[in-house]
Amino acid sequence: MATVTFDKATRIYPGGTKPAVDQLDIAIEDGEFLVLVGPSGCGKSTSLRMLAGLEDVNGGAIRIGDRDVTHLPPKDRDIAMVFQNYALYPHMTVADNMGFALKIAGVNKADIRKKVEEAAKILDLSEYLDRKPKALSGGQRQRVAMGRAIVREPQVFLMDEPLSNLDAKLRVSTRTQIASLQRRLGITTVYVTHDQVEAMTMGDRVAVLKDGLLQQVDSPRNMYDKP
Ligand code: ADP
Ligand code: ADP
Repeated sequence: MATVTFDKATRIYPGGTKPAVDQLDIAIEDGEFLVLVGPSGCGKSTSLRMLAGLEDVNGGAIRIGDRDVTHLPPKDRDIAMVFQNYALYPHMTVADNMGFALKIAGVNKADIRKKVEEAAKILDLSEYLDRKPKALSGGQRQRVAMGRAIVREPQVFLMDEPLSNLDAKLRVSTRTQIASLQRRLGITTVYVTHDQVEAMTMGDRVAVLKDGLLQQVDSPRNMYDKP
């Protein structure tokens, strides 16, 4: 677990006339669930990708804990990310999908097994470990994608519209599951969505972006109270 700090973080795409993200300042607390929300094109993904190390930062800095990670490659940032298109390996079982990154990292089989089993328990996937992804529901697959991220025990967890491929009903139940999972793990989380209801129901705090500029950061309660 760790704090995450965007310190005037700025991204200007090559050929861009104005910043896609303009001097973003947010201090995220240890264990906090922060939601970045705003309309399409406001800079949410760019912000998340800067934090992940997938996008150059053209001004300002990004810190995880007290480490300046602004120019570190993704693998050295101790983060895990779940995308909108969480492609699972179709020929591998759920367990092997979840353990794959650990296998690549050279973790021994017994330890992988233990971590996979723990994650599966938390995610309610224990009875599906030997199945292939195609034998699972959309919501279960989505949880496998999360499992794949959490077995690595990252300091920070990033999610970019992870529910957008689910139907409306599943989206609501998965929303609750993700929020409670995050609270149980207590892992600092940055979650991107264009859906205001999702933002307000899931976040400890919600950061509203518009045209690359931060408009407001506050708890949902305080946002509702304000006119
Ligand atoms: P959001 O995630 O809120 O939809 P993005 O971060 O994807 O917003 O995009 C922010 C702005 O940056 C938009 O104007 C978008 O068109 C632009 N943008 C995003 N990716 C690129 C890119 N690879 N090259 C140039 N412009 C980009
Ligand atoms: P390999 O495919 O290299 O022979 P395994 O079949 O044992 O290795 O599975 C790959 C990884 O996934 C292993 O490291 C193992 O610990 C994990 N794994 C496989 N099946 C399960 C399971 N049912 N429960 C938990 N972890 C599993």
